[in-house]
Amino acid sequence: MDIRTLFPILDQNVYGKPLVYFDNAATTQKPQCVIDALNGYYTSLNSNIHRGAHYLAAKATECYEQTREAVRNFINAKHSHEIVFTRGTTESINLVASSFCQRFLSKGDEIIVSGMEHHSNIVPWQLACEKAGAHLRVIPFSDEGILDLHALTNLINEKTRLVAVNHVSNTLGTVNPIAEIVNIAHSHNIPVLVDGAQSISHMPVDVQALGCDFYCFSGHKMYAPMGVGIMYGKEELLNEMPPYQGGGEMIKDVTFEKTTYNDLPFKFEAGTPSVGDVLGLKAAIDFMHQCGIEYIATHEKMLTDYATQKLQEIDGIRIFGVAPHKTSVISFLIGNTHPYDVGTLLDKLGIAVRTGHHCTQPIMDRYKIPGTVRASFAVYNTKEEIDIFIQALHRIAPMLQ
Ligand code: PMP
Repeated sequence: MDIRTLFPILDQNVYGKPLVYFDNAATTQKPQCVIDALNGYYTSLNSNIHRGAHYLAAKATECYEQTREAVRNFINAKHSHEIVFTRGTTESINLVASSFCQRFLSKGDEIIVSGMEHHSNIVPWQLACEKAGAHLRVIPFSDEGILDLHALTNLINEKTRLVAVNHVSNTLGTVNPIAEIVNIAHSHNIPVLVDGAQSISHMPVDVQALGCDFYCFSGHKMYAPMGVGIMYGKEELLNEMPPYQGGGEMIKDVTFEKTTYNDLPFKFEAGTPSVGDVLGLKAAIDFMHQCGIEYIATHEKMLTDYATQKLQEIDGIRIFGVAPHKTSVISFLIGNTHPYDVGTLLDKLGIAVRTGHHCTQPIMDRYKIPGTVRASFAVYNTKEEIDIFIQALHRIAPMLQ
């Protein structure tokens, strides 16, 4: 299977140059099967789910629930009702921060996050802490981009209510030792939320083996459409947590005197979901299975190692995030050049990278830099593209220094 040809968007020129798309950590491109699934839904299946007595409603509901089961299987959750559809990682984390904290966070309590979190795994906790009168504590990390687990152990105390960390840093590429973090937290009966936005498309994820209590991710970073994400939560906790939003679908009975809530997972799925996008997610999971998750990981590691080695040959290069265990994200600066200037010149050569703080301002503060240039690879990228990228940097570097 020639994976690249399955992605129509990649076959185009930008400013007269073949597109090199290295902005995969922001969002991946979509294979034809995902585009077809979306198109197929709106061409022949569109209907609101769960409440209709007619053929299309029943069929759309069946496909929607099949996707839930496909997600359960993909991350090896115990029950499909532990899979909640959201709009993405951000909404998933906000759901937990709002609902879990309403039930379990009180004045003077503490929540622990790491210093390498995306703003999506910082701000929702800050909002929850502000509401409850609780405090945020932060796990530091080393210059290489490795979390200090000894510090985590010291941060935990009788006031700690939750640890929230990412599986993979979107800026440093570090793969964090989730099972170890879960062991530390669980030995004090503290649940762990994992932001899986940057891991889900790069490695096999088994939530039962990791032992985490919540695992959140976005479809659009794993070849699926924008507009759908997942909040996985352990049944026992989800049952204890109040609804996040009120509305249709999440209720059992409504009277003006008292409303009772629906069972899991519907308690957390108020309103009409993005059914077409959910079906697209099923196609994306099938695509990833076809590629083989192990193949994806191996191919991307080859690209990352190759690009890292070639980048190191460029004068003045500084790579941020050099943990031994990392995914296909490379953040760098060339001398004192501004990341934006490098990104703009690369763009004119047809190469798409991301520049800036990548929604991780605390990481930039940690290294005292304004931002980085970030190249991130997916299964359809090639060594030849990395050669084009490196040649371009050799051309650009002297112009900017
Ligand atoms: N966490 C991490 C680590 C991310 O990389 C991102 C996306 N850049 C998010 C959370 C937020 O994801 P989304 O915008 O899809 O909700």
